[in-house]
Amino acid sequence: MRCRMCKERAVISMRRHNTAFCRLHYREFFFRQVSRAIQEFGMLNPQEGVLVCVSGGKDSLVLWKVLHELGYKTRAMYIDLGFGEYSLLSKQKVFNTAKKLSQEPIVVSLKDMGFDILASAKAKHRPACSVCGTAKRYCFNRTAFEEGLQVVATGHNLDDEASRLLGNVLRWQTHYLAKQSPVLPSESEHTPKKVKPLVKLTEREVAVFAFLEGIDYILEECPYAKGATSITYKLLLAQLEEKMPGTKHAFYLGFQEHLSKFSLAEAPKGELKTCKVCGQDSFEETCGFCRLLGQLSP
Ligand code: SF4
Ligand SMILES: [Zn+2]
Ligand SMILES: [Zn+2]
Repeated sequence: MRCRMCKERAVISMRRHNTAFCRLHYREFFFRQVSRAIQEFGMLNPQEGVLVCVSGGKDSLVLWKVLHELGYKTRAMYIDLGFGEYSLLSKQKVFNTAKKLSQEPIVVSLKDMGFDILASAKAKHRPACSVCGTAKRYCFNRTAFEEGLQVVATGHNLDDEASRLLGNVLRWQTHYLAKQSPVLPSESEHTPKKVKPLVKLTEREVAVFAFLEGIDYILEECPYAKGATSITYKLLLAQLEEKMPGTKHAFYLGFQEHLSKFSLAEAPKGELKTCKVCGQDSFEETCGFCRLLGQLSP
């Protein structure tokens, strides 16, 4: 297998693009895909400060490195979820990349905020992932506001977004479909713009890039990820991709052309208020995170 550009030995072949690249040209390809996503969807401009949410996994660490090398003004934030060994290890991976990039990440500890995901999930009879999602969104928004950063970037890749889209289509969750753009505008000074610059790249493509760049990332899954329906959807899409290369790309990126049809179906949210506890945006008197936190207080 030879590189399409220089005919050197290829390190990756991509059936969906019907091509193969050597190490050097794969790097160029990867950066081009991120830059194109940023341009096509109007994700970032060079003046904006970007909070990159890093978990210690490959996607977010790759995103941080690429945005940093592309010259964007990045700050990384790691949220310590308080998941024992898993959190300790993932934080270490974030610091390893931070050292290579000569950057200091912001660390937000849920424990220091008096919050415990598992205790809250138990008290509210909600899945851990649902409570975790509320806590993470709260930390993204709050940290971006406090640090004066206009954009929050996450490392969701094409597989993540295509599987989420499949789940939303199968249940016709039009409210969620309306939000499946890789860029969501800011709703107020407390709610930054949200962007996903890796949406043109598959999980495998990100993993190969991480390997070639020597990025040290956590291989273990979060201990509470087991049984997530997104894994089933990813497996189904992988089978389709195997038979019909390019399916994931056509499904998710093709959907973007039809996104506006779903915006009108978005559920009415009511009036945006200010949380009386923390001052962040909320559609109720108290925001979702402060309500969860309040339930845990003795
Ligand atoms: S898998 Fe783990 S990190 Fe991800 S949302 Fe669920 S609990 Fe949070
Ligand atoms: Zn080459
Ligand atoms: Zn609040």
